[in-house]
Parts: sequence; structure tokens; C-alpha cells
Amino acid sequence: MEILMIQELSTPVIQTLICSLRESETDGLRFRHIVKEITRFLLNEALKDVALISKDIQTWRGVESYKIMDQSSYVVVTVLRAGMPMLESVMETLPKINSGFLAIKRDETTHKSKLFYERLPDCEGKTVIIVDVMLATGGSLCDAIEVVKDAKAKRIIALNIIGAPEGLAFVQNTHPDVDIFISQIDENLNENKYIIPGLGDAGDREYNTPE
Ligand code: URA
Repeated sequence: MEILMIQELSTPVIQTLICSLRESETDGLRFRHIVKEITRFLLNEALKDVALISKDIQTWRGVESYKIMDQSSYVVVTVLRAGMPMLESVMETLPKINSGFLAIKRDETTHKSKLFYERLPDCEGKTVIIVDVMLATGGSLCDAIEVVKDAKAKRIIALNIIGAPEGLAFVQNTHPDVDIFISQIDENLNENKYIIPGLGDAGDREYNTPE
């Protein structure tokens, strides 16, 4: 049996939040806030089985040992610009995690993605969490995965808010070793490769950029 590497987290709470993202009157501040909230749910689900280390801490009862994640084993990488609030969310939850940035833009005529800026920390042997809001054709995510693989990541996890079945299938076929945690799989892509129903251009919505 094929092991599914895609997990959809479309719970009632998440569906309610995504409905607000789809509403045109949701402004950038609220939009970014919701993206950050959903990212926390995705992060929690994606990391629920990871190994822990022991940490001795001073408590009101003396020194005690507790289990925590070793944040130095993780890197979060965002795809600019829409992934920025997701990176902020991961770093608010795990403040010691290192972060990286990839600027990938898709050509609006050919719909092909192009990487034009890269700033990554050391990823060798680490679990790298790639964050982006929309997984449309999957082209940008595949570009990001290739960069992170070249940087010798041990495991790659993608967190996305909304995806199209075509793009998810493309990423899964191209990189079956990558685990994708997504909050909503929508219907399909339109002729301009926008997700239907989707929510428009996620970066524009986050930062009040007029079309
Ligand atoms: N990028 C977006 O922001 N929205 C889409 O629907 C597809 C790609």
C-alpha cells in the first residue's frame, strides 16, 4: 500500500478560519493573523512524533528534568512573500529555530517558477520545514525542495494553507520523500494557475497590495 505523504488538517476550527481568509473584506492584518494561527496547528501536527531531548531546569521544587524539542535540529524556510507570516508563526512558537529565505517568483505567462534569491542557514542533517501559503502548480515548492535537498537536509516537511490537487500530485510524484501538511485541499487550478475557489493572491491579501 502506498504511504500517503499528504495530510489535510481540515478540522471545523480550521475551516472556519479559512472561510475568513476567503472573505474579500478580511484586511491584511487579520489575514496574516489567521495564517499564523493555522500555521501553529499545522506545525503541531507535523512535529507531533519527533524525538525529544531532556533538559534540567530550576523549578519551585528544585532542579527537575523535562522533555523538549532540540530546536537546533530544525530550520524553517519561507518562500517570499506569502510565506512570511508562516515563518513568523513558527519562530514565535520555536524562537531558537534557524530560518532561511527563498524568493521564488512565477512568470505570469509561462507559469514557471524562478528562484532569484536564496539565504539559507546550515541545513545539513537537519529537519527543514518549508512554509508557503498556496500550493498551486507545485512549481515553487519543488524549487524550494531542490534547494533544501542541495543543502543536505535530513528530512523535509512542507506546511501549506491551501493547495490544488494537481500541484499536490506533482510535488508528491517529484519528491515522494517530502511530507506535506496542508489545511485545505481545494478543487482545482484555473487557466491562470490560480487555485479555485482559493483566496486570490495570498501575498497581495496579506500585505494589502492592490492588484
Ligand atoms: N498563488 C496565490 O497567491 N494564489 C493562487 O491561487 C495561486 C498561487
